[in-house]
Amino acid sequence: MTFPEQPLDRDAVLGHLRALHAGDTDWRDGQMFAYIYDPGRAAEEVAADANRLFLGTNALDPTVFPSVLGLETELVRMVASLLGGGPSAVGNFTSGGTESIMLAVKAARDHARARRPDLARPELVLPVTAHAAFHKAADYLGLTPVMVPVDPATCTPDPDAIRRAVTDDTALIVASAPSFAHGVVDPIADIGAVALERDVPFHVDACVGGFLLPFFRRLGADVAPFDLSVPGVTTLSVDLHKYAFAPRGASLLLHRDDTLRRRQIFACAEWTGYTVVNTAVQSSRSAGPLAAAWATVRFLGGEGYLALARKTLDATRRLIAGVEAIDGLSLMGRPNFSMIAAVADGFSVFHVVDEMKARGWTIQAQLAYDETLPENLHFSVNPGNAHQIDAMLADLADAVEAAKQLPTRTPASQVAAALATLTPADLDGGRLAALLGQAGLSSSALPDRMAFVSELLNGLPRTHRERLLVEYINQIFR
Ligand SMILES: *Cc1c(COP(=O)(O)O)cnc(C)c1O
Repeated sequence: MTFPEQPLDRDAVLGHLRALHAGDTDWRDGQMFAYIYDPGRAAEEVAADANRLFLGTNALDPTVFPSVLGLETELVRMVASLLGGGPSAVGNFTSGGTESIMLAVKAARDHARARRPDLARPELVLPVTAHAAFHKAADYLGLTPVMVPVDPATCTPDPDAIRRAVTDDTALIVASAPSFAHGVVDPIADIGAVALERDVPFHVDACVGGFLLPFFRRLGADVAPFDLSVPGVTTLSVDLHKYAFAPRGASLLLHRDDTLRRRQIFACAEWTGYTVVNTAVQSSRSAGPLAAAWATVRFLGGEGYLALARKTLDATRRLIAGVEAIDGLSLMGRPNFSMIAAVADGFSVFHVVDEMKARGWTIQAQLAYDETLPENLHFSVNPGNAHQIDAMLADLADAVEAAKQLPTRTPASQVAAALATLTPADLDGGRLAALLGQAGLSSSALPDRMAFVSELLNGLPRTHRERLLVEYINQIFR
């Protein structure tokens, strides 16, 4: 397509977008157990109106648009008080968990460098269950991840193992409340004690849990302390576009106090243009997502969140009981959250995902990490799919029976074994195209059944997986 000279009228533009939209999986019927956090139409519409009202406001400069400063500080104060922040807690609005995490890592890195100017490669102590965004931050910002294993029974790291991983070069310790993969909360208080003992900053990733765990606790669920009230916790990320139900593009990075926050802020006077001072990675940006997030939090309030949490907790308990009752499925760890992972005994989880897709359900597959953490099925519950649990479980039992009839060792395992003998650098575009062709797939259409692709990736070393994924994406965006 070349650059269009002819304007399209409004109806044609929107018609085109509607047609594209209609081709996406519909999430409104509650058949997706991933990606979606749905509070219902009323909250969604308030957020959409708020977004539209502030769409053209530029959050680049809060001195020119004081509404931005007002909304952001108010949102931070409200959420900090929900999450154990004292009067000295500060924070900022960002576009998502990844950006909040990026900023927390940058602040910790610069803090470490200020204390140790000779420090060449600061280290990031990460349980293997920590979100990929920390690896992205380490990659972008020049830190070395120091990986800490988790106990396969609980899927949480041992605080003593974290203590042993801390060195003089550690810039930041990370833990999750909860981890996305298994929905388990790490032992935050014990890790906080390690952080205090070693005088190292400690980030709690409450991106997914921050807006739900407090309400689960009010409902009587057993929720261990995980937030800024825990001694040793210096920063905490909480996504508003997950269980706060704001439209996407909304997260907060909270700090215990302003010590590290100073290192999060970027100022530049080394150019000829307007004065730049940014609290986030993004510079020019719409204030729409901020206004929408503020509106959602105010519209729902604690009572609204509690009602949505009750629905979610009840559905999660039915999901856990239902999954445990299916012959051949068992839970990973003991989830304290509305996200669970289940492993399969004797059949392929990837076939289950495909069989569920054929029955109208979206569930995620998670690849094996190592021998102790095998490939598994991931389910996220939210108020929008809570009413579908029983129907989903009935089809899941069916899908598992269907998967048991399908071969567990697909040809993909053999291809993976052959590929694993190559170095990652050998996995170039040509090799990928040949591979896809061999599997009857192309890089122009997404396959109907993903089992082959998933088995293939699952059979590869992690470095090879990353390389193939990059090549694939480099192919499809053309
Ligand atoms: C979603 C998530 C992130 C990353 O957030 P994005 O908003 O997708 O950038 C980080 N950590 C956890 C635990 C998450 O669930």
